[in-house]
Amino acid sequence: MPGMGSPLRSLPSVNRLLGEAVVAAAVDRWGRETVVAEVRRALDGLRAVVRDGRVDGERLGREIEALPGRIVDALASRAAPAYPAVINATGVLLHTNLGRAPLGPEPPARLASYLALEYDLEAGRRGQRLDPIRGRLAEVVGAPSAVMVNNNAGAVLLLLATHASGREVIVSRGQLIEIGGSFRLPDVMAASGARLVEVGCTNRTHLADYEAAIGEETAAILVAHPSNYRIVGFTAEPALGELAALAHARGIPLFMDQGSGALHDLRRWGLPHEPTVREILDAGADAVCFSGDKLLGGPQAGIVVGDPRWVDPLARHPMLRALRPDKTALVHMDRVLEAHRTGRLDEIPLYRLLGTPVEALRRRARRLARRLATAGVPASVEPSSAALGGGTTPEATVPSWAVALPGEAELATALRRGSPPVVGRLHEDRLLLDLRSVFPGEDAVLEQAVTAAYQGIQASQEGGA
Ligand SMILES: *Cc1c(COP(=O)(O)O)cnc(C)c1O
Repeated sequence: MPGMGSPLRSLPSVNRLLGEAVVAAAVDRWGRETVVAEVRRALDGLRAVVRDGRVDGERLGREIEALPGRIVDALASRAAPAYPAVINATGVLLHTNLGRAPLGPEPPARLASYLALEYDLEAGRRGQRLDPIRGRLAEVVGAPSAVMVNNNAGAVLLLLATHASGREVIVSRGQLIEIGGSFRLPDVMAASGARLVEVGCTNRTHLADYEAAIGEETAAILVAHPSNYRIVGFTAEPALGELAALAHARGIPLFMDQGSGALHDLRRWGLPHEPTVREILDAGADAVCFSGDKLLGGPQAGIVVGDPRWVDPLARHPMLRALRPDKTALVHMDRVLEAHRTGRLDEIPLYRLLGTPVEALRRRARRLARRLATAGVPASVEPSSAALGGGTTPEATVPSWAVALPGEAELATALRRGSPPVVGRLHEDRLLLDLRSVFPGEDAVLEQAVTAAYQGIQASQEGGA
């Protein structure tokens, strides 16, 4: 039991702490209840330390002095967004861990109010949520029919559950892929109820391998885009057209998990050609699945397009109710489809970044480096190679320019923990800030963040020396 001289007695009361100027300001900002709870938490923490006898009198004095600041810091970190905005200076445009395609600064105004989500205004009664977007998707892709779900994993799951549950689906061993974000094709297939029949070898699969595997139980042939890797060297896969001809001769469909959703010829941006969804359909695929937040440049979504015979039943499957997109995704998708339809790709943030002339990136990099140098940060510029990412064109690069900084890992950490956080790319002995994935409007904030991080490190080194 603490006696008269117990250090516990010297702890301030809740009310005294609430009277401290910074804590009082916090009450105005976050409300009394929230702040009182945080004050109690801080006092409880300190009390526990005192009870354990872990602090002497002098140290306790300092702890008490630091309490108001600690309380405000804790409140601020609780109030920070769970998913903070980040400056993506990695040069990877579709970075799965940074939210893939950016959606732009203005959420469509329609989201602020009610909207005709599944309401037939003409007839004045309940409508079908997916019908309006299905028509627009089909038009933009150039496909007879389309369905949209929550993500591409859901699209593959729904396609197979609808057409292959309890039956066999043939996949080449070279395509049994795992993609960042824990998409494993064999696991998704198992969840759909389809039985996987593997054919061929990792590096080579022939038409005859598929042919030999087709039997009574076969529901479909599935081709998966290898996405984030390439098998090079002694390799073989039959052409899509050959596979389609084989499947159709045997009365089964050919499905493709294309993944990236290329709608335009990527050579326009200096990238290697990637068959577009339309070209895959033309080659004979009956249904093609892809993500909404990769090359489409839209919200998270999974899209299935193709022959109505194989696509339309998806919209009636009970699983659709569990996979249906929410209104924010539908409205964002509608807007991005309009930009594709009218060819105004500049309205899609991904294509604004991809389409920035490399000379403009060089100018921005130079300017940024110059301003950083003025602020005492030793920065230089160098040409860089950016990438699409997101499992698209794994080896292809997009020319870019970067600001190079010394300090590597330490600076990278400070930048990640800064406000706003900046994620760069470590390359050999320097930290690169690749401007291909940075919006021009972010340059000034990036400069401040780098300066603050660099000065923070300098100060701590001087303090420690
Ligand atoms: C990206 C990708 C997926 C996963 O898509 P999500 O939208 O993240 O669910 C599946 N298959 C392929 C081939 C992909 O490229």
